[in-house]
Amino acid sequence: MLVDSHCHLDRLDLARFGGLANVLETAATHGVTRLLSVATDLESWPALARLTEPYPQIALSVGVHPGEDGARPPTVAELTALGREARVVAIGETGLDYYYGADSADRQRDWFRVHIAAARELGKPLIVHTRAARADTLRVLEEEGAAEVGGVLHCFTEDWAMAEQALALNFHVSFSGIVTFKNAKQIQEVARRLPAERMLVETDSPYLAPVPHRGKPNQPAWVRHVAEFVAGLRGEPLEQVVATTTANYGRLFGVAVEAG
Ligand SMILES: [Zn+2]
Repeated sequence: MLVDSHCHLDRLDLARFGGLANVLETAATHGVTRLLSVATDLESWPALARLTEPYPQIALSVGVHPGEDGARPPTVAELTALGREARVVAIGETGLDYYYGADSADRQRDWFRVHIAAARELGKPLIVHTRAARADTLRVLEEEGAAEVGGVLHCFTEDWAMAEQALALNFHVSFSGIVTFKNAKQIQEVARRLPAERMLVETDSPYLAPVPHRGKPNQPAWVRHVAEFVAGLRGEPLEQVVATTTANYGRLFGVAVEAG
């Protein structure tokens, strides 16, 4: 079985796919039988919870994406209240994005600190987005003691030096479809060198479809292409990448996963 460790099921154009049940069935035919649907704000969280409730293979996170400028600001109290639900296995996605939000850097850092405090209170790992903000991301994680709960730098687009620092902070690294892009040499190097026990794979669907579907609306089934590409880079059989990333998912997020 394969895991899509980061998708946004409530952002998929479900009508186009014939509903969530069909999305999950397509995923299953590709061997993808577990998913983590990651929250991006608090306003849409109840709808996300309702949408995914019938499906025990879907885990959830609670958080407010750093780019959601107009969203209700997160508080430790609200994040921990929602985060106590059994299906919620992580806090995020949170982090810093100075590429799109350089002018909201202060606000982003405040929210990031709130998420880390909530994760520590709950003892649940963090899902971290970082773009053009590498030094501050590492600094805030360090200052707030994020290593105590760990987590994942999702949709990794940085270099090996950043990956090493993330590993030192008790974080995992997750590869999305971007690793399959022709010009992604730096990310591909990280995929070759990363210790197997810290590696995850994801789609970040509906965004960032991997080759050979680049440019189309992404879906969880296609995490298989990410895993295949990473296996090729590492010179490992696909089954090995599938087994290790699935075991890592289970261990990091406290989810029971079947072997094989
Ligand atoms: Zn995401």
